[in-house]
Amino acid sequence: MSLIVQKFGGSSVANAERVMNVAKIVTDTYAKGNDVVVVVSAQGDTTDDLIAKQMEINPDASRREKDMLLAAGEQISIALLAMAIEKLGYHATSLLGWQAGFETSSSHTSARIKRVDASRIQDELDQNNIVVVAGFQGISRHGDITTLGRGGSDTSAVAIAAAMHADLCQIYTDVEGVYTADPRKVENAKKLKEISYDEMLELATLGAQVLNNRSVEMAKKYGIELEVLSSMAKASGTIVKEKPRMEKMLISGVAKDTDIARISVIGVPNYPGLAFKMFSKLSKKKINIDIILQSIGHDGKKDISFTVAKDRGPEAVEVLEDYMVNTLGAKEVLYDDEVAKISIVGAGMESHSGVATKMFEALYDAQINIRMISTSEIKISVLIDAADADKAVKAIHSKFFD
Ligand code: ASP
Ligand code: MG
Repeated sequence: MSLIVQKFGGSSVANAERVMNVAKIVTDTYAKGNDVVVVVSAQGDTTDDLIAKQMEINPDASRREKDMLLAAGEQISIALLAMAIEKLGYHATSLLGWQAGFETSSSHTSARIKRVDASRIQDELDQNNIVVVAGFQGISRHGDITTLGRGGSDTSAVAIAAAMHADLCQIYTDVEGVYTADPRKVENAKKLKEISYDEMLELATLGAQVLNNRSVEMAKKYGIELEVLSSMAKASGTIVKEKPRMEKMLISGVAKDTDIARISVIGVPNYPGLAFKMFSKLSKKKINIDIILQSIGHDGKKDISFTVAKDRGPEAVEVLEDYMVNTLGAKEVLYDDEVAKISIVGAGMESHSGVATKMFEALYDAQINIRMISTSEIKISVLIDAADADKAVKAIHSKFFD
């Protein structure tokens, strides 16, 4: 007998028919003699709808109350799924995050899991129940309901798998696995059989929608093998694990992120310590920066450009105008949020030269201008105009995979 954790995303439980479909998958797994713990997200767009309700009443609501509201979405789906399982003639118990033992930090709306005390889950399994757990939520040491940040149910599932030493952790979603590019945008995108944690982590962070990056981090840390697969189609998915025996592929995927903006600080005085001062101002505000480019200095001045998440852009500009322009005498701050970051990821590029050249050639062939470049051991990212984003993904994908 194995212990299997199965996670179903919002689209997999969006309506009654899909909830019944999930109940079927879960009970089939149970009927084969396995212990099953199921983690579910809120139905369909429920979380977005709840946020819209909050915005109508108080856009500046406290984060504690936001968590109280958002956690309700998952409460609905666990109860409905447990009822669907009962209807198929099996026993199920639904548990909220706190009942399932999720102890978290108290940073509301982006809490971190500190510990999962799985004793209640284990009791339920011992009584031959299928356990249905609300993803995305936990409880702080003050006894308040917390949530883990958008897309957090993946992390809930991996945390249970780690705490209970599960034999398998399956992440069911609305695509059939991890693809070499978004299959909805790129016709000949291929499903990967396997991908390493590091590559998956890069892809998740760089804009692939399929897994939450914190869940991949946690899976890597505890060595939990993940299978990403579709709840709608009966097909094998993608295994995420340590150092897979890859079909010698140079790169494993192309990702796009349009939720970013570029900020340029022009005419910065050219003496030591300026970059340090500027970026520490931003990090004090917890504004993360990504690709950085500094120009060669001339006439005692230089320009520094970098990218930030779009939703933090205006705040970053305000900070920099105040500090860099008004206090330190830079000329101006420019802001552009019509940009996209296109990245290729692959462990194969460590040992092969010419991968960057091939990517740049694809962009040249498509007449797309590169505005910034950044590289690491297993990824190359370029910043381009947002309008070119889909064209760029297609061009790069066909260069490497056709
Ligand atoms: N329902 C939450 C969200 O949409 C958590 C999740 O889906 O993983 O962000
Ligand atoms: Mg959701």
